[in-house]
Amino acid sequence: RGRVMVQVRVARLDSDHVVVLGEDRTEARRVEAIRRDFAVNVSHELKTPVGAISLLAETMQDAADDPEAVRHFAGRMQQESTRLGALVHEIIELSRLQVAGALTEIGVIEVDEVVAEAADRARVVAQAKEITLDVGGEPGLRVFGDHALLVTAVRNLLDNAVAYSGSNTRIGLGVRSAGDLVEIVVVDQGIGIDASQQARIFERFYRVDPARSRDTGGTGLGLSIVKHIASDHGGDVRIWSEPGRGSTFTLRIPSAGAEHTSPEEDA
Ligand code: ADP
Repeated sequence: RGRVMVQVRVARLDSDHVVVLGEDRTEARRVEAIRRDFAVNVSHELKTPVGAISLLAETMQDAADDPEAVRHFAGRMQQESTRLGALVHEIIELSRLQVAGALTEIGVIEVDEVVAEAADRARVVAQAKEITLDVGGEPGLRVFGDHALLVTAVRNLLDNAVAYSGSNTRIGLGVRSAGDLVEIVVVDQGIGIDASQQARIFERFYRVDPARSRDTGGTGLGLSIVKHIASDHGGDVRIWSEPGRGSTFTLRIPSAGAEHTSPEEDA
């Protein structure tokens, strides 16, 4: 709360002299507090689906001679298990990213390949809601980084675009270069996000509408994972949004140059 914590160590140089070493512990304490909050949130978030599954199992036992009811509760149990699985997966993903040096497979990445892979996987969920996914942009751009993590980041943005859009809308996925950066842009025509909420949605477990997020199988961790992946690549993620009009998320990663250099650039 604005106070600076200093850890002091005293070292003796010789019998007449000592040095006092002060180390700023403010940042360390802040990180510790975040870790503590995260642990509390994780246990709270895990309790919800675990509690639901246990309750559903109990109810199912009571309704054992009603096949229709059994089918219904089994379906609900499956839904909750899927949610629990997604939650565990994302918690592990985020913990992995929080460890320094999370980018294990660094190389020159073809952005086209990242975008195509993420789009392929998102197309299935989009089609289920009759949402059209348009993919386009500048070909041949490259960044330094981790292919799998970049696919995860783009995939999370696309999953959100689908989850928070109505049927028969369009989602655009594009790539462009902007100075030293490569921008991967996801545009939707969904519900949008109020300006007052826009900074908070990148926080872990933060959801604008928890009930809606739960219905769509959201974990509240998707965007904090995207933010982590962006900053691990030396980039960031930006949002433009207007309630009722839709949202645009822009993932910006430092460029590693283009595949084909034009004759003018070679000169
Ligand atoms: P969730 O798993 O709940 O989607 P995220 O971290 O991915 O968690 O997103 C946090 C919150 O931000 C969501 O619960 C939702 O309220 C809001 N949000 C994210 N993406 C969009 C979007 N494309 N359109 C509208 N709201 C969004």
